[in-house]
Amino acid sequence: MNIWSCPVCGEDLLKQNQNNNKSLVCKNNHSFDYARSGYVNLLTANRKKTKLPGDNSLMVNARRNFLSRDFYKPMSDKLCEVVDSFIPCKGVVLDAGCGEGYYTKNVYKFLSENGKSPYVYGIDIAKCAVDSAAKSCKDVEFAVGSVFHIPVMDNSCNVLMSAFAPYCGDEFRRVLKPEGTMILVIPGAYHLWELKKAVYDTPYKNNVQDYELSGFEFIGTEKVNYEISMDNSKDIQNLFAMTPYYYKTGRQEHIRLDALQELHTKVSFEILQYKKK
Ligand SMILES: [Zn+2]
Repeated sequence: MNIWSCPVCGEDLLKQNQNNNKSLVCKNNHSFDYARSGYVNLLTANRKKTKLPGDNSLMVNARRNFLSRDFYKPMSDKLCEVVDSFIPCKGVVLDAGCGEGYYTKNVYKFLSENGKSPYVYGIDIAKCAVDSAAKSCKDVEFAVGSVFHIPVMDNSCNVLMSAFAPYCGDEFRRVLKPEGTMILVIPGAYHLWELKKAVYDTPYKNNVQDYELSGFEFIGTEKVNYEISMDNSKDIQNLFAMTPYYYKTGRQEHIRLDALQELHTKVSFEILQYKKK
């Protein structure tokens, strides 16, 4: 099973193994080598807006360290259950914007332990994130690629999941099978409320947008709310570095953040489910 498509011409990519060098090659002879850690780079130079697009290694490391402490495990567990409910035994899951693969890996593990034999794929535009993902899970196929030009064949995925990643409805529809399911994880209105209160003079709640999305039928949402406690500055800093506010925060707020030694905060997620129309 292979769903990758050539980012240059769009044809199927086939795996080749020559002299222990694994690569993907299309019928027009465009060729993409696997990195030693096991991912393949399907991001062509003209799709890159910067030399190293996507999250930088500082953000990737912060997120990996935070997630490895399993603060988001209850949400991840619920996400796995939701994916499981939509996937046939040998179904295909694509994690679009997979980062360092925390959820991708958990989904693979959950489905396998539930007696399924899934094909799980992950893409992200940040090479350092994909490298880390490939090292952490050999059972998932990872590629560097953009969610706005997904290097995956049309109608090839049973489930497309996207957790806190950029949304591209047209591409998500294109790669989903006709009866495919899209699963989006978004922050709830009061996600990290106490963290925001500790850092900002006037914290704002997150806007939870309208559920309707063009080209998809909304079928339901799972709300996941609980609280987490952190008792050291490192975890708190890592959590903050994962948020979109990190680079928009001024010096005064960073001083407050640096002084925080413990934090008890709400976490709030929604797991939205859609059928392709
Ligand atoms: Zn090609």
